Amino acid sequence: MSAIPRFLRCPNCGSDDIMKNGTTRRGKQNYKCRDCGRQFVEDPQWKRREPDQITMIDRLLLEKIPLAGIARVLKMSASWLQEYVNRCYETVARQVEVTPKAQGPLRVQMDELWSFVDEKGNKQWVWLALDVETREIVGCFIGDRSSASASLAL
Ligand SMILES: [Zn+2]
Repeated sequence: MSAIPRFLRCPNCGSDDIMKNGTTRRGKQNYKCRDCGRQFVEDPQWKRREPDQITMIDRLLLEKIPLAGIARVLKMSASWLQEYVNRCYETVARQVEVTPKAQGPLRVQMDELWSFVDEKGNKQWVWLALDVETREIVGCFIGDRSSASASLAL
């Protein structure tokens, strides 16, 4: 009995919690997703794409075109494309580096960022509370220009 291919992903939800689910009438291994219940066989066209086409797919993905649209234009299956994207995501780091915060009192600076007119025609100011040390936004308030509004951002 062969093992489940390591990079096999559910074409519906992308889960890797896959179990074997008998064989199809044509004798192909059938799989079932434990998360969403989708049954599928491994896409036989996987890995047969030309490098030129992969380059094109990568460029289209960077344009944030919906997967279904890319699949239609390139005349490929949406499930193949989904699996390709899932494999790309595999290589992306799961954790983002966050700078440890210094302990101690927080020094905050209020910035009146910009104004706009709300649906009632009133001019609104957007206040941001910034940590002076890190420039991180620690609060936000939308309202009038008074100092009371500024204090509400915290
Ligand atoms: Zn699934």
